[in-house]
Amino acid sequence: MLKRLLQLTNLSEKLFDTAEGPHGAKVISAKNHGIRNSDISNGAIKIISQLHTAGYEAYLVGGGVRDLLLEGKPKDFDIATDATPEQIKTVFRNARIIGRRFRIVHVRFGREVIEVTTFRDSHKEAENNQEAEQSEHGVLLRDNVYGNIRTDAERRDFTINALYYNPENGELLEFSSGLEDLKARTLRIVGDPDKRYKEDPVRLLRAIRFAAKLGFTIEPATESPIKEHADYLSHIPAARLFEEVLKLFMSGSATATLNLLREYHCLQYLFPSTDFCMEKGREQDRNMVSSATTNTDIRIRQNKKVTPAFIYAAFLWPAMRASMRHQMKDQKLSTQEAMQRAAQGVVSQQLSYTAIPKRFLVPMREIWALQLRLPRRQGKRARALMEHPRFRAAYDFLLLREQSGEKVDGLGDWWTRFQQVTEDEQTKMVDELGKPTGPRRPRRKPKPKPSADAE
Ligand code: ATP
Ligand code: MG
Repeated sequence: MLKRLLQLTNLSEKLFDTAEGPHGAKVISAKNHGIRNSDISNGAIKIISQLHTAGYEAYLVGGGVRDLLLEGKPKDFDIATDATPEQIKTVFRNARIIGRRFRIVHVRFGREVIEVTTFRDSHKEAENNQEAEQSEHGVLLRDNVYGNIRTDAERRDFTINALYYNPENGELLEFSSGLEDLKARTLRIVGDPDKRYKEDPVRLLRAIRFAAKLGFTIEPATESPIKEHADYLSHIPAARLFEEVLKLFMSGSATATLNLLREYHCLQYLFPSTDFCMEKGREQDRNMVSSATTNTDIRIRQNKKVTPAFIYAAFLWPAMRASMRHQMKDQKLSTQEAMQRAAQGVVSQQLSYTAIPKRFLVPMREIWALQLRLPRRQGKRARALMEHPRFRAAYDFLLLREQSGEKVDGLGDWWTRFQQVTEDEQTKMVDELGKPTGPRRPRRKPKPKPSADAE
């Protein structure tokens, strides 16, 4: 990491060229930053070039530029321009304006979708403007006041995310200390930390995310308000927090992220029951949560599929178990009923913190429900279970439970073997289990066939 940047910019050398860029930007020319256009997606380059041809300014900005300088492979490229969303739409046929709080344009280029945003301005001069609405807590409900490249840089979250690159002339522009901070592996918020966290508390989570993902140190003034203002997160709608949770846990650094979220007292505003079990729960509950993040990180490294349903299922499992124990002992419910009741309670509490879209909620509940079916393998049940679309996830979940110290009577090993052996051996394994026990589904009465003399 940073090798290229360090090679090119010997610290004793002057980093910036003498020429001043637009709006007083510091200009770093191609020979001093080492970004290669061949590392940038064709779509991004073409979109910038088309915006230039149409007479607008346009730059690559944000994570794309940051990761190019870090020699990471950017996963996406964001573009900033002085064209308004409507003007962007006139330049590209495949453009769609999205978002209300923060309007952006999605431009489709082949299979790529590139985010194009209009330069933002602060809200000082626009307090009565409907494009700059604030909540009673000072959180920006709408952030659509447009400005120029300098004001845009001032509205970005961290200095390392506020570097602008023009692939046509190879110039990198900066207005603060982004490049120095990248070299020093420092995360520094742009502007006054208290104000910036207050107007958008999601930046608290972004600080944690970048510190975990990049392994950067959070500079003291950026760091100290995080713990203190973690409660600002309760002002953020559950749907937006869900989007952030995805980025926090599905980017390959879930374990480091979880540790930092706890350290900065933020976990309680995302997953209160998980936070409680990490602080005060039993060892196996803590293991369950940390094994889930470790496994997710490993799977991402191996390019395997990961789903938020699995992470959610694991994070909420300790609360599920506690609630099930209570339902069975005090309410005298059956295991099945206890699970249903527990799931209702646990899910409804979680939904008031982070939303969980149905497409993840349903599989999460299926993973839980299958935990009760996995021990019941007699007769034709085992083979039928393997046909269940959620079997694989449920089996992985069972292994996680076993790995974390939950007593499952060797069930994980049994299922592992069952999937590896021949059909004949499978039959033997099932036979060894003996006759089916436990609740059986009541047989449906066959519908009476209409008799010949029926009318
Ligand atoms: P990633 O690699 O995870 O995509 P990123 O920095 O590109 O990281 P995005 O969420 O794609 O993150 O945002 C793109 C850019 O938009 C950021 O780099 C930052 O400049 C700006 N940005 C995003 N969210 C905020 C925010 N809440 N406040 C201020 N600026 C933001
Ligand atoms: Mg990005």
